Amino acid sequence: MQFVCPQCHISYPATSQRLRCAECGGPLDVADRKRFDPAAINTEDHSLWRYRAMLSLPDGARVVSMGEGMTPLVEAGFAGQPIHFKLEYISPSGSFKDRGTTVLTTALKAWGVTRAADDSSGNAGASFAAYCARAGLAAEVFTPASASPAKLAQIAVFGARLNKVEGAREKATEALEAAAGGGLVYASHAWSPLTLEGTKTIAYEIWEQLGRGVPTCYVCPIGQGSLLLGAYRGFKDLLAAGLIAKLPRIIGVQSIACMPIVEALRQGLDRAAPVEKKLSVAEGISLARPIRDREILRAIRESGGDALAVSDDETLAAQRDLAQIGLYVEPTSAVVGAALKRLKVDGVTVAALTGSGLKSPPALR
Ligand SMILES: [Zn+2]
Repeated sequence: MQFVCPQCHISYPATSQRLRCAECGGPLDVADRKRFDPAAINTEDHSLWRYRAMLSLPDGARVVSMGEGMTPLVEAGFAGQPIHFKLEYISPSGSFKDRGTTVLTTALKAWGVTRAADDSSGNAGASFAAYCARAGLAAEVFTPASASPAKLAQIAVFGARLNKVEGAREKATEALEAAAGGGLVYASHAWSPLTLEGTKTIAYEIWEQLGRGVPTCYVCPIGQGSLLLGAYRGFKDLLAAGLIAKLPRIIGVQSIACMPIVEALRQGLDRAAPVEKKLSVAEGISLARPIRDREILRAIRESGGDALAVSDDETLAAQRDLAQIGLYVEPTSAVVGAALKRLKVDGVTVAALTGSGLKSPPALR
């Protein structure tokens, strides 16, 4: 298995140590990505591993799974429009992150890793801790000290060593980079190309669940953009296989407290400039500059999509509105509801609800 830099086109043997391109420092992709083949879907498997034939993994990998994926696609009227909600919060650790983590921990095991660490504002850390417990890996998670108490408790209950770091989200990354080495592998969900191998399955599922079709429009939050990029790559695979005629319009949602992608689109830029973040209830998407900004901007433009930013007031109102139709999500996910209230959708719209409301109950905030 090889990784490749999409900018420099340099290949690297895929190992647990290889996170970045040695030449440009940018993120890597899996080389020779597999093509989508509907005949290769294992329909007996009701998890995302039904697409195993389409996933790139190290040789001899044995799957670390808890039945993630194949989340419900539920149609509901919302803000006067019919929306298909993809309930990603119904995942083993309560967020869509499990899609990437199941693939990442499968690879870590195959590479012989025994101690691994990740940095996270909460959901990725909880997912990582859960899958490491499942796989028998010793885990450490570096988080901002300000992360949601429910998320910190969730990380700890899985037995992961929790390192709370004071200051901005980026400080947790710096602390982990300093601690890694000597047997502790930095298994970054944000940098690893295996994360997107996992998240691309959301597009395959939507295609199957819509009766082998894709929506007109796909809406999701943007933090690092792993769910947006996973969907983009998955839909591109379907396009390349001749199974769909065009990409859905991909619409990303940010908080006005931190909106580097919205700004870059407005200014017509190919890269996002780091922004100054303000505090927001949408803590999980508060990232000053996504690692894969270039590809996020390309996905939005190529699909005829857009990005918009919503306020905390709109987000909290949308969280209540979604709960009124039985959908209990955290504020980071409710930004999608806030965006739907502003968008005029036509055709079939799929909106991803990424994280459970149990992770950040209003009464505890
Ligand atoms: Zn490079």
